[in-house]
Parts: sequence; structure tokens; C-alpha cells
Amino acid sequence: MNRRMKTVCDFCKTEYNLDNVPKAPVKCAVCGNVWVVQKPPRKNVWLTFIAAICALLSAVVFAVAVMAQHQIKEIRENPLVAEISEIETITDDNGIVHFVVSGSVHNRSEQIYGVPGVIIISYDENDKILDRQKFLPPATLLDSGADANFLHVLSVPVQGVKKIAVELEK
Ligand SMILES: [Zn+2]
Repeated sequence: MNRRMKTVCDFCKTEYNLDNVPKAPVKCAVCGNVWVVQKPPRKNVWLTFIAAICALLSAVVFAVAVMAQHQIKEIRENPLVAEISEIETITDDNGIVHFVVSGSVHNRSEQIYGVPGVIIISYDENDKILDRQKFLPPATLLDSGADANFLHVLSVPVQGVKKIAVELEK
């Protein structure tokens, strides 16, 4: 690596410009003093490194801030979330097997909210909707941070159903 550097005779203080760090000791042309030129400290590399770290940290802080903003917006738009916790089956009097879907509606906002209808959607293996069943919410109002559990027996038989999802009525 070619990097211009300075070396100073520590006897007569004459400065010399060098293109490289000489491997052998150098001799001063003015006073004849001999010394070994040390590699310059790699200050620039460190500064670049520290600058890169700072840039990275500020990028991380920025990303976290954006994510927090996004999450606040997300919660404001969808304060209630529904999720399925368990899917079981039940056989009715006619010998037909149905899914029993249990889950909960959670209020992740800071306010009390009215709960809309809950919709259970059944999909086939090609992600095509086979059935949408809406039922009344498990509670009419949910406090901040509260959950309401639901349990719903799907009226359609289990045949062909590969995936079940839950949504809240908009
Ligand atoms: Zn000298």
C-alpha cells in the first residue's frame, strides 16, 4: 500500500517525506543519525470504522423509530386482534365431523373498544375460500389489554378444509 508519510530525524529534526515505510533503518542526509521508521498509526481507518458504527447505530435507531411509528399506526387502525388458539373436531348426531375453533379477541390499544363480529374462514388446499362463518362477538366491549375467548363449531363438514383463519368484521 502506497501511503505518503512523514518521518523526522529525532536528532536534527529534519523532516523527510516517504512513499513507503522503509524496512531498513534510514540515515539522515543532514546529520547522519540513523533511525528506524515506524508505521504511522492507522488513525484514518479507525475514524472510518467509528463513523461506520455511528452511521449504523443511527440507522438502527431510525429503523426502531419507524417501526414504533408503524406499530402505533397499526394499533390505531386495528386495535383489536383475533387469533385461533386451538382447533378440535366434534362428531354430530348424524356422524358428520365438524371443526371446533377456539381462540380469543385481544384489545391491544389503550382504549375500550366495541367488539365486531368474528369471522372464521375455511380454505382448501389451493387457498380458495370454502366457507366464511360469522358469529357474534364473545363480548360486546373490551377493556384496554383485555381478552375475550370464543369457541365456535363450524357448520360445514371438515372434508377438504386445509386451513382455517379468523378475522374481525370491518
Ligand atoms: Zn538529522
